[in-house]
Amino acid sequence: VPVVAVVGRPNVGKSTLVNRILGRREAVVQDVPGVTRDRVFYDADWNGRKFVLVDTGGWAPDAAGMAARITEQAELAVATADAVLFVVDATVGTTDDDEAVVRVLRRSKKPVLLAANKVDDIRAEAEAASMWNLGLGEPHSVSALHGRGSGDLLDAVLKLLPEAPKDTGAEVGGPRRVALIGKPNVGKSSLLNRIAGSERSVVDDVAGTTVDPVDELVEVGGVTYRFIDTAGIRRRVKEATGHEYYASLRTQGAIERAEVCVALIDASQPVTEQDLRILTNAEESGRALVIAFNKWDLTDDERRRYLEREIERDLIQFGWASKINISAQTGRSVDRLGPAIEEALQGWETRIPTAKLNAFLGRLSAAHPHPVRGGKQPRIMFGTQAKAAPPTFILFTSGLLDDSYQRFVERRLREEFGFVGSPVHVQIRARE
Ligand code: GDP
Repeated sequence: VPVVAVVGRPNVGKSTLVNRILGRREAVVQDVPGVTRDRVFYDADWNGRKFVLVDTGGWAPDAAGMAARITEQAELAVATADAVLFVVDATVGTTDDDEAVVRVLRRSKKPVLLAANKVDDIRAEAEAASMWNLGLGEPHSVSALHGRGSGDLLDAVLKLLPEAPKDTGAEVGGPRRVALIGKPNVGKSSLLNRIAGSERSVVDDVAGTTVDPVDELVEVGGVTYRFIDTAGIRRRVKEATGHEYYASLRTQGAIERAEVCVALIDASQPVTEQDLRILTNAEESGRALVIAFNKWDLTDDERRRYLEREIERDLIQFGWASKINISAQTGRSVDRLGPAIEEALQGWETRIPTAKLNAFLGRLSAAHPHPVRGGKQPRIMFGTQAKAAPPTFILFTSGLLDDSYQRFVERRLREEFGFVGSPVHVQIRARE
């Protein structure tokens, strides 16, 4: 999601303009604890384009004390922004402070849009026009208070932003896509038979590479899902040498087309390397994940206790996955599959509002600052959720984070927001 920073001297009307852009009337009095106090983040949307709006405190170069801190925050906002909206007061005209800000903005090399605010009369209009001489291109006359010009301003802002990412080619819409995965003989086709029964609703050959039906629409708990590449499951692909390679290619293809993977593990047998490979594969592909321990009817108390230990030891890195214990044979708890899939998809598609995320990051950094390394202490300055499915966060930091600290932040993110059933990706952008 692109980030737009709104900067300018105090009292030029930044917050009023931000409210105008957000389409709200109430004043911005949001008290975000911690480090983000001087920058407030909003999820904004204009003509279907989403972006994050950062409202900074007033910016005065060469400020001292509290003002210096706010200035530092504004510089930070500019450093992490894709575009800057620079607001000046047309009833005052440009001041020395404005010109100093312009110099800093120019050095930042960020695209800047000049907004001359409070243009409510001819005199202010003339003043706004004279602001061409700031060398920032056309001054956009607006009246944040009355809403005048703010639509054109936003159109211009969006033109400065990087292109929206092209459609990744992923399939969208229609029933949710599920990949049933797991090593041979774990019970995939038994489970498919159990839930789909003989009333197979065959979808036409999607891949176009095989004469087999590829996908099936299967109803689970009253919801219809598209089970991917069921031909590969139904047809007994024997694991003779050579075939395994193709079977795993096929699994990979199914994972990539799916939104959620249901990974079967044989509860009656020790967890194997192959199980772990398949789970890792699903995680690395960024899919929602349900782990179904199948053949539960074959387990006794001793085996279940041992399985618990295996989960602790070998599957701990998949602690976030939704888990169910089932028997495809007897039908035990198969009705829990639907809710587990829904839970995982929900975690997978979670979006955390930027203000909420930064309030959390502020509290976290205040309570648990990064340890000092070589005299330096990296700080998390700002975070944004770049995308959902799976939730992917970008943290802007003042230096590289230790691996252990990054994992700590990831863990806390999960504790705070959940994301059950979904991998969570965190990327760091360190500013030197
Ligand atoms: P796939 O290769 O993963 O599709 O596995 P299959 O569905 O063909 O199952 C392999 C074998 O395990 C078959 O003999 C099934 O009858 C058996 N099986 C599958 N699920 C269960 C289960 O929950 N309990 C028991 N006891 N046997 C099962």
